[in-house]
Amino acid sequence: MAINLELPKKLHTTIDQARDAALEIFRPISRKYDLAEHEYPVELDTLAYLYNGLAAAGQAGAGASGGRGDAGKERPEGYVANGGNMQSVLNSMWASYGDVGLMLSIPYQGLGNAAIAAVATDDQIESFGGEVWASMAITEPSFGSDSAAVTTTATRDGDEYVINGEKIFVTAGSRATHIVVWASVDRSLGRAAIKSFVVPRDNPGVTIARLEHKLGIKASDTAVIRFEDCRIPAKNLLGSPDVDVKKGFGGVMQTFDNTRPMVAAMAVGVSRAALEELRKLLEGAGLEIDYDRPAADQPAAVAEFIRMEADYEAAYLLMLRAAWMADNKVPNSLEASMSKAKAGRTGTDVTNKAVELASTVGFSERTLLEKWARDSKILDIFEGTQQIQQLIIARRVLGKSSAELK
Ligand SMILES: Cc1cc2nc3c(=O)[nH]c(=O)nc-3n(C[C@H](O)[C@H](O)[C@H](O)COP(=O)(O)OP(=O)(O)OC[C@H]3O[C@@H](n4cnc5c(N)ncnc54)[C@H](O)[C@@H]3O)c2cc1C
Repeated sequence: MAINLELPKKLHTTIDQARDAALEIFRPISRKYDLAEHEYPVELDTLAYLYNGLAAAGQAGAGASGGRGDAGKERPEGYVANGGNMQSVLNSMWASYGDVGLMLSIPYQGLGNAAIAAVATDDQIESFGGEVWASMAITEPSFGSDSAAVTTTATRDGDEYVINGEKIFVTAGSRATHIVVWASVDRSLGRAAIKSFVVPRDNPGVTIARLEHKLGIKASDTAVIRFEDCRIPAKNLLGSPDVDVKKGFGGVMQTFDNTRPMVAAMAVGVSRAALEELRKLLEGAGLEIDYDRPAADQPAAVAEFIRMEADYEAAYLLMLRAAWMADNKVPNSLEASMSKAKAGRTGTDVTNKAVELASTVGFSERTLLEKWARDSKILDIFEGTQQIQQLIIARRVLGKSSAELK
């Protein structure tokens, strides 16, 4: 049986809109906000408006506007529940084809939105006020990769939880309206007690301590956030409040199944941007990319280009598979990690190789190639590094637990 790799027609609008925004809104301001780190890209307000329109038509994806996921009851006409993850990855990919930093700054499209969409109930979404732009706060000064080491606490007090702790490197942390915070409801119960909470950014007890200066994605704000006796309604806990020590912390970890393909999509998008730019430069230099001849028989630069295009295609297809599985409720932890591992590595390889092959032009600021090489590195680090994805894949393939394979 032949495999149909065509995208459904309804997704073409998503791609066209995101691609147009990438080329007409993001690219012209890409360098400006690379140089003006921490300045809010006001042009993105236009995009928020566009995305709200898409969300109302069910075209913006799982993480869109208010985190409306499969749980919602009232649907505008034409809303498509199935396909939300696919829309999200395609949006992420094409917006990142424009600029990854700006993509991460699009209002109401935070990584926390995907987490909310995956598990929030209708009542919760309503109580968050409908429109939610949520960042994701997991990392702390004492850990990054080891998500089970959360020290931030959420102590139950009547109808509220009181949150105390510090989160670092929170993408969109100073701009988003809400923060999805990982905290332990009982540190004596280990990782099973880690839950995620939706905290309004302007809640008393929340302080944006500082913003980081970074190698790339400079248009994106990266915040250190402190929580001091921060009281939130108990219903802001996402998922089940029960602590099941037998199940571990699979509940919060499941959000990665939705967000990792999205980060993979960002890497696929920036790879595509670099490949298109490189193709122009190679062809401009008189090199012909001939798909009817073996790569090894062609000039070295062309052979490299063909190899990178193959990697790009593989990353793209893995991204589609992980998103398709999420949409169809097929467990996808393995495939989500595979998509992120492949795309993360492809993103850094393609963008750096493009700088190398374009040499002086690649290293200068005459094109965006050097910027894309800087921007792509983070996509192989956050939401789980390359090494962590490989560890997860190995555990799943070999049937080993996290205690057996560290
Ligand atoms: C720009 C930026 C934005 C970010 N945004 C967010 C965000 O929005 N929310 C959030 O919560 N966090 C965010 N992070 C944090 C990010 O998720 C962490 O940096 C990442 O998980 C790695 O953690 P770490 O930096 O502490 O590195 P470590 O965990 O200390 O790892 C250091 C190195 O060791 C490797 N390593 C670690 N454990 C193993 C192992 N068992 N086997 C093999 N190798 C291993 C890692 O792969 C890495 O190469 C962001 C980080 C950056 C730089």
